[in-house]
Amino acid sequence: MNARPDTADIELDIEGAADYLNMSQSKIKGLLDRKILLQVWDGGWSRDQSQRFFRFDKSVSKIEHGSVLYQRNGSFELIRGFPKIQRAMLLGPALESHFSTIKTVAVEEKMNGYNVRVADIGGRIAAFTRGGLICPYSTDRAQNLLKHDFFDQHPDLVLYGEMTGPDNPYVPKNVYNIESLDFFVFDIRHKDSGKPYLLHERRKLAEEYGLNQVTFFGEFSLDDAQDEIASIIRKLGKVQHEGVVIKDPQMILDPVKYTCSQSNCADLQHAFKFYNDVGRDYFFSRVVREGFQSVEWNENETELQKRCLQLGESILRPMIESIKQVKDGTRIADDVQIRVKDLSIISTYQEYLRRLSVDAVFSEPESIGDEYIVKIKKLNQSTNDKTESMCKGELW
Ligand code: ATP
Ligand code: MG
Repeated sequence: MNARPDTADIELDIEGAADYLNMSQSKIKGLLDRKILLQVWDGGWSRDQSQRFFRFDKSVSKIEHGSVLYQRNGSFELIRGFPKIQRAMLLGPALESHFSTIKTVAVEEKMNGYNVRVADIGGRIAAFTRGGLICPYSTDRAQNLLKHDFFDQHPDLVLYGEMTGPDNPYVPKNVYNIESLDFFVFDIRHKDSGKPYLLHERRKLAEEYGLNQVTFFGEFSLDDAQDEIASIIRKLGKVQHEGVVIKDPQMILDPVKYTCSQSNCADLQHAFKFYNDVGRDYFFSRVVREGFQSVEWNENETELQKRCLQLGESILRPMIESIKQVKDGTRIADDVQIRVKDLSIISTYQEYLRRLSVDAVFSEPESIGDEYIVKIKKLNQSTNDKTESMCKGELW
């Protein structure tokens, strides 16, 4: 998805922004001209239209991609983007080389949902996606899920977390025993500097306010970490969870992620259904991971055969199913759903997806308790078109 649901109505105090970001005014103008700094469409979040948000579409100097800049009572504030987490391909060697300067590593669950930053801006909660967009659905859910006392006392902090569960328009998952959608904190950072809380202090703070957080598996010495993590990964794999993020408790070294084979295969299974819509890197990297894990785990012939079969099935079966469906005249679609209390969120979210160029069909809301479920069919145009033309005899 590379579309930009931003508005054109740019009104940025260039002089003030340059001063705040310690950049020249011509640099800021250049960023605006080249659409690297873009005004964000807020979907009516700022009711009186007075609050404007700008996002960094690329990283610039030390400011991460997805960072959000805005003015509040005359002063600028910056909500820093969430840094990319690198992946261990071979756990043992990666732990040894990446964490060689520290004695212990902390291991947390890597939950499979989507990344959201929640912040308070002038007494109102906003939820930003990884890229710095204000997602109206996530904002509505965050406003419902989070009590205001955390932000009342810490207006300068940003909660970084995973939105997870079945009522999820991006990564719906049923494996966490979540009824609808929940927000799990994995990082707390200061506005402006992006300075993170130390891991144990962050967990303590989140607990004090009763916030959900990702599971903590323990802090292990570097000598024990590889075996401990391998055993955690095998257990997580059995219940279809995604994997772990390995962190420096002091939050000085960058974290590293490592995932289960089952989660890889689940990703492939989903992606191959829409084989022509998903980037090729996505497939390739997941296949390569399987190779490295098999070697590191020193698999015997039986284990290897099982892995090959699982990988092959997760690639071929969904694709074959898609081809059959299109051949029979059915359009393939990604079926997701959202749950709202306030019906007006539906049309705002529809507009948000339209601006992202996502081709989506919304069903009529069905009431459930005091809320509504809306089913959404995301049409995957490219796979539909490609398959259809192949079925008509066109050459690849
Ligand atoms: P890429 O594959 O290009 O790195 P990505 O950032 O989406 O893209 P992921 O494999 O999803 O890559 O891994 C990083 C994401 O994992 C984070 O953005 C965050 O949303 C999610 N995450 C889940 N649990 C945690 C956790 N405990 N700590 C940090 N991140 C977590
Ligand atoms: Mg993810």
